[in-house]
Amino acid sequence: MLVPVLIRSRQHVMEFECGRKGRQRDKDERQDQGDCGSNDRTSEGRGSRADHGRGACSRNLHLCQPRKVLALASQAELHHATLRGQGVGPLGEKPVLIDTHTHLDDARFDGDRDAVIARAREAGVETFITIGCDLATSRAAVSLADRYPFIYATVGVHPHEVKCIGDDWYDELRRLAQHPKVVAYGEIGLDYHYNHSPPKLQRDRFREQVCLARELRLPLVIHTREAQEDTIKILKEEKGSEVGGVFHCFSGDAWLAKDALNLGFFLSFSGVVTFQNATMLRDIMKTVPMDRLLVETDCPYLTPAPHRGKRNEPAYVKLIAEKIAELKDSTEPMSVQEVECHTSQNACRLFKIPYGSPERGQSKNAR
Ligand SMILES: [Zn+2]
Ligand SMILES: [Zn+2]
Repeated sequence: MLVPVLIRSRQHVMEFECGRKGRQRDKDERQDQGDCGSNDRTSEGRGSRADHGRGACSRNLHLCQPRKVLALASQAELHHATLRGQGVGPLGEKPVLIDTHTHLDDARFDGDRDAVIARAREAGVETFITIGCDLATSRAAVSLADRYPFIYATVGVHPHEVKCIGDDWYDELRRLAQHPKVVAYGEIGLDYHYNHSPPKLQRDRFREQVCLARELRLPLVIHTREAQEDTIKILKEEKGSEVGGVFHCFSGDAWLAKDALNLGFFLSFSGVVTFQNATMLRDIMKTVPMDRLLVETDCPYLTPAPHRGKRNEPAYVKLIAEKIAELKDSTEPMSVQEVECHTSQNACRLFKIPYGSPERGQSKNAR
């Protein structure tokens, strides 16, 4: 059965000069190699050590309950999600875009955050997820979610920052996670490219945080770089599949894609798919089932072509959806609107958020 698609004609991707503030270490390298580059972020409790080691984590294991994320979509939703459309989105709505990974709290947006958000809305981005990378940015993410009805937040500690985890961090993250608009735990994981935190400490803190996410019953936002095998091993050993999640800014090989999909995770693609030298990544993306794909900007990092060198912003997620449609279309017919529908519906399923913005008559509360 075919249903008509309402074509979204608005597409204003604005160009502007990078208005960033402060230090931006390794910026060029990140732009080229696909790191979300949170190493410059403010951290708290530097030098202090967490008291929530394996022992503390184990004490909370009795609270962990399975949450089969992938079973959440109804048969009807899945049916619609697989339709080639002339019509409506998977839930009877116009196609919308969801930028599933932003750092809207970043200081580079301090001068024009409202304008950045307005440009994205104008470009068709109706929902944003802004990511916590340490305690300060987790608090900032929650505060942005409080301020804007269409922004949701995550909390967690990035592998770069785990060396800063202080005695009270996990308690504070637990408290922040109670906010109704916190929809996931992360970004967490392993980054052996920069090793801003020692690898052994990264692994320990990753395990603890997977456990904490299970306790909180929140899906995981995974950051992994040059650490594929350990990432999969820890997710298996710590039962990450119970809450599921997403490999954000996917830049691994075919082996990682297969393992992540087998674990029930989603794969999120960023502006890296538009980079000239990302041939292998594009080939992998083409093999990912449409019901496991997400899109993200990871702004202000990883600006897609043709805007590389400038600050990234959520409006550009449209360029990523367009590139994915173009690539997928080489093997099966695929429109940009279909990519928007599929990826947005996937995001709603994973993060349990309503399809469409509150202004369009949807529930404001995610969970
Ligand atoms: Zn990342
Ligand atoms: Zn990030």
